[in-house]
Amino acid sequence: MSDARQDIEETAGLTVGACRETFPGEARVALTPRSADRLKKAGFRVVLEKDAGLAAGFPDTAFEEVGVELLADRSAVFQQADVVLFVRGGGANVEHVDEELRLFRSGQTLIGQFNPLGRPDVMQRFAEAGVTTFALELLPRTTRAQPMDVLSSMASIAGYKAVLLGASALPKLMPMMMTAAGTIAAAKVFVIGAGVAGLQAIATARRLGAVVSAYDVRPAVKEEVQSLGAKFVELDLPTGEESGAGGYARQMNEEFYRRQREMMLSVIAESDLVITTASVPGKKAPLLVTEEMVQAMRPGSVLVDLAAEQGGNCELTRPNETVRVHDVTIIGTINLPATVPFHASQMYANNLASFLQHLAPGGQIDIRLDDDIIRDTMVTWDGRLVHHRVRELLGLASEPDERPAAGASGGPEEKRSTDPPDGPTEEPTNAEPTGDPADGCDGSPTDEPHGEGRSEP
Ligand code: NAD
Repeated sequence: MSDARQDIEETAGLTVGACRETFPGEARVALTPRSADRLKKAGFRVVLEKDAGLAAGFPDTAFEEVGVELLADRSAVFQQADVVLFVRGGGANVEHVDEELRLFRSGQTLIGQFNPLGRPDVMQRFAEAGVTTFALELLPRTTRAQPMDVLSSMASIAGYKAVLLGASALPKLMPMMMTAAGTIAAAKVFVIGAGVAGLQAIATARRLGAVVSAYDVRPAVKEEVQSLGAKFVELDLPTGEESGAGGYARQMNEEFYRRQREMMLSVIAESDLVITTASVPGKKAPLLVTEEMVQAMRPGSVLVDLAAEQGGNCELTRPNETVRVHDVTIIGTINLPATVPFHASQMYANNLASFLQHLAPGGQIDIRLDDDIIRDTMVTWDGRLVHHRVRELLGLASEPDERPAAGASGGPEEKRSTDPPDGPTEEPTNAEPTGDPADGCDGSPTDEPHGEGRSEP
């Protein structure tokens, strides 16, 4: 190692880097000037591929102002960074996996969204490459993990944008209007699935003046739906078993879904805009709207399927396409957060910075397996696939957990223990992410310095 490089490492701790994203249409970036500033203050050296933030509205100059070192290309970033931050990598960007694998260095740490449950085979290849992977889709949905919860922050954006797409495609206005030319009735919006995206869709549709109703298999969300001014649609379906671990919906049997479809038919037929957000983690999205149900909708109605990437809640959805069938527009745009890249990057990068500061307090990685945030997100380590759910999906037997002992620093050379892979987790809450002022994630990214607070990129 050169003397100069050694000096940097002694004073600045680990080097963290990010590159321009390669997933088609992905305009977000995993580092923003503000998150980089946070990381630098926390003791990291920060590097970024030149122009990586441009598509999201963050020019190189804004990064330079906070002391980020700009590198000519992605291979330079992978060469220098101990920790590489991704928006979409691995199984969440399958076409580029071979290219990524060529760039990895054994012992390097990767943090981002990698779709480990959808593409466990890709995680196996990451393991073989000797990289340590933290997949934030696997973050426990606990209060403590909220500042790092990328699923929540991105789902909020998707829910908001789904309503705007739907409203634009409707041949109608959303609000009621009393004009000299007559009274216009408010549009009727039906939201299926009232998780993070669904609740944001309800709030957005209400702000636009629509009459909103919603349904979720988890009756616990009824009050939240009502508090946003929407009606909770009661369906006479068996209740009690809908929620599984972490507050998520369980997969129900086909008979349940058949009855659900039957009961939702009349609500769907009366709605101008249907937004479907129903999903079960790690499973194909449940089929909730059939062709027959679409046919029952009025001409000109719109359905936005937020589950398009997981197979779609509507039988007619074509991922990443907008189709018109039986005079109904069906929007299957995937990756909606990428269409709001400025604020999506702010939120995402803040989530990542919170995670990294948690993983590496003082600028050095400290893998504490008694910590559910670290244990649950760690998928590969020391050449092996270490996440039990990902192993199960590949039909691999669970093996004794040989990751580093609680309190040990990460890295293949560290001492190992036989700690069990799982332990108690905190009770989930339904609270919106609030951020943690202590780590600088104050939940109000609009107040960012260095131009990030501009309302327009
Ligand atoms: P998700 O994206 O997995 O699912 C979206 C919604 O679809 C869920 O509300 C689910 O119940 C619903 N759904 C599934 N099958 C359905 C069906 N057949 N019909 C109608 N609806 C169906 O979930 P999500 O939005 O990421 O989060 C789900 C829940 O996790 C939250 O509502 C909350 O309880 C919990 N959560 C907790 C935290 C936290 O404490 N930090 C953060 C986020 C979410």
